[in-house]
Amino acid sequence: MTGAHGNFREERNVSDRVYIENGSMVLFNEEYFMRQALLCAEKAAAAGEVPVGAVAVRDGRIIARAWNQVEQLKDATAHAEVLLISALSSLTGDWRLDGIDLYVTKEPCAMCAGAMVNSRIRRVVFGMGDPRSGCAGSALDITGFPGMLHQVEVTGGILEQDCKELMRSFFRSVRKQKNEG
Ligand SMILES: [Zn+2]
Repeated sequence: MTGAHGNFREERNVSDRVYIENGSMVLFNEEYFMRQALLCAEKAAAAGEVPVGAVAVRDGRIIARAWNQVEQLKDATAHAEVLLISALSSLTGDWRLDGIDLYVTKEPCAMCAGAMVNSRIRRVVFGMGDPRSGCAGSALDITGFPGMLHQVEVTGGILEQDCKELMRSFFRSVRKQKNEG
């Protein structure tokens, strides 16, 4: 079966949710949610922020979106994931966010991984890993640390190349602006 969004493979129906958007079939899968997180990251880049974007998914639906706003808000804690977790608590009226999965374009830092543990996020899915300071298993494993009250399930590498390319092109343009200025 082929839809407007490319090849639709029926066998994926088993694990993926499907819905109809503008008359065409769309797969509700990890790539779809990461693509939405990438759109958020692009909003950050357009505002001159390091391009990191995130979406929150519950029962197969996106319930909130956020992107890095450290420069705009002049706040070092305004990472996409922390903004998202705060918004989710307001939205649900609960600090416990169990049953919610976060999709984020880059592996979370120590602060964001800690916030995910404390808010009981069920699972984090990230795009590009961060060998230097990623804390979902790369540099540190905060999300899986047995001493924590809660462990967050982790899946990495979804649309990794797209996430890396957005980051690379952002820093290329920053360098170019510096050289021209
Ligand atoms: Zn962070």
